[in-house]
This record gives sequence, C-alpha cells and structure tokens, in this order.
Amino acid sequence: MNILVINAGSSSLKYQVYNMDNEEVLAAGRVERIGMDTAILTHEPVGKSEVREVTPILEHTTAIRKVLDMLVHAEHGVFKSIEEIDAVGHRVVHGGDSFSGSVLVTEEVKKEIKRLFDIAPLHNPASMLGIAAVELNMPGVPNVAVFDTAFHQTMDPVAFRYAIPNVLYRKHRIRRYGFHGTSHQYVSERAAKFIGRPIEELKIITCHVGNGVSCTAILNGKSVDTSMGMTPLEGLMMGTRSGDLDPAIVPFAMDKEDLSLTEVNFMLNKHSGLQAISGGSSDMREVTEAMLAGDANSKLAFDMFTYRIRKYIGAYAAALDGVDAIVFTAGVGENSVEVREAVCSKLNFLGVELDSERNKTGRGFEKRISTDASKVEVLVIPTNEELVIANDTYRITTK
Ligand code: AMP
Repeated sequence: MNILVINAGSSSLKYQVYNMDNEEVLAAGRVERIGMDTAILTHEPVGKSEVREVTPILEHTTAIRKVLDMLVHAEHGVFKSIEEIDAVGHRVVHGGDSFSGSVLVTEEVKKEIKRLFDIAPLHNPASMLGIAAVELNMPGVPNVAVFDTAFHQTMDPVAFRYAIPNVLYRKHRIRRYGFHGTSHQYVSERAAKFIGRPIEELKIITCHVGNGVSCTAILNGKSVDTSMGMTPLEGLMMGTRSGDLDPAIVPFAMDKEDLSLTEVNFMLNKHSGLQAISGGSSDMREVTEAMLAGDANSKLAFDMFTYRIRKYIGAYAAALDGVDAIVFTAGVGENSVEVREAVCSKLNFLGVELDSERNKTGRGFEKRISTDASKVEVLVIPTNEELVIANDTYRITTK
C-alpha cells in the first residue's frame, strides 16, 4: 500500500510518498512560492537524482497536479500510474477540542476544520487548500487528517485553561491546545523504546526545538502539559516568535507605536524571537556562529533562548513530580551541540549529567547524550512527523 503525505502551508507544500509494506520512503519534495510565476518544485525520488523546476504555480490545485505528474514521470517518477497511491494523509495544524486523534476526511470533518479558521487563521486555511486540491486531482482516494493538537487533548483543565473570564472559554473556546503533537508523541514513544522501558511507566519531557519551539510534559505516554497555547505563539522563544510575554505589553505597544491588530500580530509572530534579539537572523546556526565570533546581541539571543528551555524543563519536572528522560528533537534539538549543552548545564539539581563527548558526536540517529551515571536519560531522537501521518493514514484507511 502506498501513501502520499501532504503538509500544506499558505505558499508552500511538502510531500512524501511511503510504501507502507516496509515503511520505505519512495520520494519526497516540496513546492515553494505557490502563487508566483517563479514557484519552485523540488522532487527527490529515492535512488535517483533530484529534480528542480521553476514554473508558474498560482494555487494549490496546480501544485498537487505538478507533484502527481512528477510522481508518474517517465524518468523521475516512482509510479506508473497515480492509481498506485491508495490514500493521502494531511497534516492539519489545529483540531481544536473537536479531534483527539486522526480521522478520515468527511464533509463533517471539513466543516469542523473550517469552523476552526477563526482560532487558526494562519494555519487551517492552508490545510484545507491541500485537502481540496487532492480531492480535485484524485477523486475517490481517501484522505486522512492528522492534527498537531490531537496528542495534547489528554491535558487536564488545570493545565489547559487560562485564568480569564469563563465566558471566553464557553463562547470562543479560548484555552491552551498545544502543537507539534505528532512530533512529541513520536519521539516520546521512540525514547521509551530506546531506554527499553514501557512508556506507561515513564515521565518524559520532550523538547521540539526547530523554527517553532515547544516542550511537552508526558506522563505514562500522555501529554499532561505543553508550552504552546491557543496558538503556536505561546511558550518558548522561537526563530521569529516571541513566546511568553506579559499580555499587558500588547495594548501598551499598540498604543505607543500606533500599531493595528494585524501589525502587532505580525510583529509577535514574524519579527520577534531570535531574529529580534540577535538583530538579524532567526537561524540558530547563524546566531551561534555570530555569538562565537563575539557578537553581543547574538549571545543574548542564544542565552535567552536556552535559558527559557531550561526554565520550562524545570517547570515540567515539577508538573510531572520527577523526570526519567529529556528528549531533544527537530532542527536545532537534533543538530545544535551548543544549545543542548547550554540547556543541560544547570539541570544538576534534577540529576542530569550531560556527557559532552557523546553530545558532540554523530547526527541523524537516536543517541544518549547523558552519562551512564546520570539519573535522567538525555536523548536526541530525530523526529519523523511524516511517518506518524503515514502510519495513521494506513491504520484508518485499512481498518
Ligand atoms: P525545523 O523547524 O525543525 O526544520 O528546524 C529548522 C531550524 O533548525 C533552522 O532554522 C536552524 O536554525 C536549525 N538548525 C538546523 N541545523 C542546525 C545546526 N547544525 N545547528 C544549529 N541549528 C540548526
């Protein structure tokens, strides 16, 4: 059985194709700059050379059409016919409190995803474009929606409610939902396997540190608290997002700088975080390089970024009443020796002992970076959200 996994953004679309008989990736790729005459399609068929095409792609339906054409291309393709794709799995960012797991896409499900546009205006419309584009290009093929929020639906109101008037929760569902759920779930399950203990008896803190950053407290395999909130803006400092701040700053800055709602939203989502403090880059590689070369702003950005992760780990150790394992994943978490070192440097009170040699060696595989004597296992586990989506799609469409 072959499954196409789609992750649609407002102007981009990433894809992967799996043969689920052996969970083998057959091809991957992305379409960038959708909406422009100079859109870029990059296609990477496994075992063949990469193809890059610059071509006008004005909307998502055309983007999917181009991807499908590439998948059956005589030279670069991996299938003879599109009919060889049995199902499509979609990453959908916000499932609100309507979805606590992945579902087959029906008219009802689409209605619900659209209803959530209100609380996820930056994300859900793009997911719907991806689903609509597949329905048009591949009629009759089942679609499955996999939600970033679903894993966190096990949180208790104590963790997910905000201390604001009840009416805002009742009328508008204003509460913490959490994101990166497929990643937190996947790496926590892998971590339990790595350690060789059942997840049902473990306290794990997962740190998804990429462009977006979030930490999750996982008790016995279930998310009990997570740092992102009603939107992915809350919590840790990120590439371009502010993370936590005093909410009173928003009206104050709007007043002082004469900012509109749209402008302040844009500022907090796109012009804050590492980029704002370092004075230029949102990329941790560049921030670290500049810091090591002596740039004071980059050092402050790095220190704030890592200090805040450390604070959340401390908070979640308290929420869990202890911790067996801390897991680093995603672009920064999997690759940055410096970030992991800084985060773990003052966690001795928890019994964390980092092995700096283990921390430095090797990339792209699961590894332990704590010492053998450390009371807490510190692990690096590469995330694989696409595989989770493919597995859920397989499970739901074959049951
Ligand atoms: P992600 O959102 O998981 O794709 O992560 C993307 C981010 O990972 C990029 O913005 C980089 O800042 C970061 N990254 C990738 N490779 C490295 C590296 N070797 N060292 C530090 N950061 C990295």
